[in-house]
Amino acid sequence: MMSEIQQRYQAVCERITQAALQAGRPASQVQLLAVSKTFAAEQVREVAALGQRDFGENYVQEGVDKIAALKDVPGLVWHCIGPLQSNKTRPVAEHFDWVHSVDRLKIAQRLSEQRPADLPPLNICLQVNIDGGPTKAGVSPTDALALAQAVSALPRLVLRGLMTIPDPVDGFDAQVAVHMQAKRLFDDLHEALALPQFDTLSMGMSADLEAAVKAGSTMVRVGTAVFGAR
Ligand SMILES: *Cc1c(COP(=O)(O)O)cnc(C)c1O
Repeated sequence: MMSEIQQRYQAVCERITQAALQAGRPASQVQLLAVSKTFAAEQVREVAALGQRDFGENYVQEGVDKIAALKDVPGLVWHCIGPLQSNKTRPVAEHFDWVHSVDRLKIAQRLSEQRPADLPPLNICLQVNIDGGPTKAGVSPTDALALAQAVSALPRLVLRGLMTIPDPVDGFDAQVAVHMQAKRLFDDLHEALALPQFDTLSMGMSADLEAAVKAGSTMVRVGTAVFGAR
């Protein structure tokens, strides 16, 4: 008998495979980041037992506690995807493998300074405010190249790509259109920066992962569709 979480996990994996097929892309180009915020370490353990390795957390202390509770599970990769204040960067630099929510240089500088010397460089995605609300987190598309150049020069970080959280829109085509803006920016930066490790476009969630994969997402961040309602 499959548990509920197992059924949901397999359904999400199948959605990603189908979305890639529909988009004419190899499914191996799209990674699943399972967003475990608000769920217990034991639920993460259950999903890890199904083969999932990458997990996303929004809240620093909750994430650090879960990372500690799951130290015995080999090969887990932890992504910080929530808004980051500069006084909270140290535990992130010390415990996470990725940060998707860097949107200003000061945060990146602190993460680089605080990254322990015995760990590999921290993987960074720049969060871009792709659909433009003035109060939203994220660097503006216009300022993204300059920030990317500055971040890529920091010694203890490796710039991996971009992350977006567009406001929900109705309909598949409208969702694809927003995600395509991010894809175009990603391609422009990829060319301008010429960094081989700039390979990650983190976009798409439970409600719009098909549209994100169609537009070129390489990492979908899926919470409720894997773990259930929060
Ligand atoms: C919560 C969250 C997700 C996952 O959202 P779901 O709708 O549960 O799939 C993805 N990205 C970010 C930044 C989040 O905060």
